[in-house]
Amino acid sequence: MSRNSDCLESPLPPESGEGGDNFFRTLFDDEYCMRRALLQAQKAFDEGEVPVGAVATREGRIVASAYNQVETLKDATAHAEIILITKLSALLGDWRLSDCEIYVTKEPCPMCAGAIVNSRIRRLVFAAKDPRFGAAGGAFNLFSIKDLPSRPTVVQGVLEEEAKTLLQDFFRARRSSSANFQECNLSEPGSSSSKILSPSKRRKS
Ligand SMILES: [Zn+2]
Repeated sequence: MSRNSDCLESPLPPESGEGGDNFFRTLFDDEYCMRRALLQAQKAFDEGEVPVGAVATREGRIVASAYNQVETLKDATAHAEIILITKLSALLGDWRLSDCEIYVTKEPCPMCAGAIVNSRIRRLVFAAKDPRFGAAGGAFNLFSIKDLPSRPTVVQGVLEEEAKTLLQDFFRARRSSSANFQECNLSEPGSSSSKILSPSKRRKS
């Protein structure tokens, strides 16, 4: 399976109760876009992935979407934001994405925050904070580094509770059920003191 298999964004299915007008609307507000990112996060959840989803907008339209696929692709870099940026670059034929905005359901990690800087994305909107690995102010702020080639405008907290609840539900279910539990490289928001342990470490404790 390739993370690039769906470079050209096909329209997402309408949300329940959403009519054709909304489906084809061309101007979005932050909450609407974050709801679409949450639909992507739910896809990740349904596939057993840490539920993080993202969408990108350009000129007022959602042009690409992605969700975390680390387990599916067996690739530690397959975070929603990285897949999204790869899709956008393929779609636009350019690594410079300075006219794009991205919406992601969890604060970007250092890898993804670095990719956002390198791709020149002009605006980042995220929902849930990540106090363990968040690089947009949660654990530290990568965007505050002096002399960055570009610095996105950052908006935090759009639909934060929904995104946080989805993540917490995922980690709670996995904690209680999995014998194949492995330490995760994505952290649970709001749990800076709780370490997720692999089965071997759990058995020793
Ligand atoms: Zn990341």
